[in-house]
Amino acid sequence: MISLTNVSRVYAGGVVALDGVDLEVEEGELVAIVGPSGSGKSTVLNVLGTLDRPTSGTVRLAGYDVGRLSDARLSALRASRIGFVFQHFHLAGGTPAWRNVADGLLYSGHRAAERRRRAVAALERVGLGHRMDHEPHELSGGERQRVAIARAVAGDPPLLLADEPTGALDTVAGAGVMSLLRELHAGGTTVVVITHDRDIAAGLPRRVRMRDGRVEDDSGRETPVVAKVG
Ligand code: ADP
Ligand code: MG
Repeated sequence: MISLTNVSRVYAGGVVALDGVDLEVEEGELVAIVGPSGSGKSTVLNVLGTLDRPTSGTVRLAGYDVGRLSDARLSALRASRIGFVFQHFHLAGGTPAWRNVADGLLYSGHRAAERRRRAVAALERVGLGHRMDHEPHELSGGERQRVAIARAVAGDPPLLLADEPTGALDTVAGAGVMSLLRELHAGGTTVVVITHDRDIAAGLPRRVRMRDGRVEDDSGRETPVVAKVG
């Protein structure tokens, strides 16, 4: 579904955030990315999600070499294939939940009425059918993250990427968000989730451990990783 081959990312100023990363995620996987702060987790997720381009190396998404796509083609591919969830929700304040979700479909090509219908369906899917008209400040942290997840999945992307989605939540709300991600996975969505919560990571089938911009360990993978040449 998506693969990184010998990917490095050097930020301006010379910080080597990723240093020769090989990583392949197959359709149907549920993967945890773990590792200490600053080890490159967010950078690897942003590169996987094609929000960031590597300094060197190859990213393949759905059969495309991402480096060969124009920004416009890449945006279209990303919009149809990938949903994103972040630690701090990134919801628009003063805007009801349904509209936060519907606005995530602005570039989907659907008309306003269809965007709204899909937003309502996505909110029902995450258990927030009774909170459609609530604005973010009227929702708990866990509910806000559910709205963000509804927005991420409203367009039915096959891949969901989540950067510490439970990082700003208490244990109970975090567990609720994780069980929602598991449900989406069980429903067929491929999920990659960054977490620094050991208990959460331990409960997931595959764990990729980052350290100093490298993949230090990749355990629990169901299909063996075949060494790649070149
Ligand atoms: P993690 O998510 O594991 O905490 P990051 O991927 O955010 O790690 O960061 C990896 C390294 O890259 C860190 O040393 C961080 O300081 C650095 N870094 C991240 N983003 C930037 C940026 N925009 N500019 C410069 N350095 C960055
Ligand atoms: Mg991070």
